Amino acid sequence: MAEYEKYCYAGKGKDKFDLDRMKPDAGIPKERKDELAEATKKNQAQIMALQDRLYADGREGIVIVLQAMDAAGKDSTVKHVMSGVNPQGVDVYSFKQPSSEELAHDFLWRVEKCIPPRGKIGLFNRSYYEDVLVVKVHELNKNYKMPARCTGMKSDDFFAQRYTDIRNYEEYLYHAGYRVVKIFLHVSKDEQKKRFLERIDTPEKNWKFSSADIKERALWDKYQKVYEEAIEATASEHAPWYVVPADQKWYTRYLISEILCDVMKDIDPKYPELSADAAADLAKCRETLEAEKPEKNKDKNSKDKDGKDKNGKDKDSKDKDSD
Ligand code: AMP
Ligand code: MG
Repeated sequence: MAEYEKYCYAGKGKDKFDLDRMKPDAGIPKERKDELAEATKKNQAQIMALQDRLYADGREGIVIVLQAMDAAGKDSTVKHVMSGVNPQGVDVYSFKQPSSEELAHDFLWRVEKCIPPRGKIGLFNRSYYEDVLVVKVHELNKNYKMPARCTGMKSDDFFAQRYTDIRNYEEYLYHAGYRVVKIFLHVSKDEQKKRFLERIDTPEKNWKFSSADIKERALWDKYQKVYEEAIEATASEHAPWYVVPADQKWYTRYLISEILCDVMKDIDPKYPELSADAAADLAKCRETLEAEKPEKNKDKNSKDKDGKDKNGKDKDSKDKDSD
């Protein structure tokens, strides 16, 4: 059993999902750090090779959803796990507060525009899950400009509908040839405090911090609750949640590299096989190329019959010039 499997929740179990049971600090001994960093490197190389095949194959696409509290390591995960992957094969999107144009549409409108073509990986730094997380914590739905039949119900019913919409959307993507890989970087409140202080104390990291982060931190318990509810309501066999401990960054990276590797191995992308006709065509092209004289001999070949080249120079003098 892969190490990450104990962090995978695919719903349908007897037990409800309980976020409290998932530890942000897996307590992995420091002695394993080097070994796991090495394993992560190997996984990165495999991801690179598999991504090349995924792109050439073009049959399946991957959507990676990264969700977390602030400072849980979303950005560094993007950087590390994807390092080495051909940038042409990956599209990264950060989902921020919706614009007024986005708010004037259904909540999946901006998402659909970011779904990569099959063969590529779409990496979502935050996602449509914000619409059942931050929106739920702050009850932003109450100010939505929508008809009463959409927003007039109790908040719980409103979000129950959104969970259904999300489940259906993810199933739709699965039917359309995509894998949706959902990762929650589960950081502890103490570790977040440590990382915030580091951002405040390190000039190069100041830009990563905003006083708004403290306001959201004050709502920690509410956020944990809405995460738990969203994970419970949207985990499915084809789009499970990985609730990955995020206090030890090197362990988080290892786990995510394992998850991604296994998803890609499961897809098992293959370089396209040539039909007999296409193979014959290639063989012909090879003959054509091989029959060509090298460019560097072209001048010699363009000499006219009496040994003069285009400029009237005789062959020997040209040869001497070029020596
Ligand atoms: P960051 O990822 O730290 O740059 O911040 C992006 C901010 O946009 C976060 O505070 C998110 O909660 C917020 N955000 C993302 N999507 C939505 C949404 N659908 N509605 C409201 N806020 C959102
Ligand atoms: Mg932030």
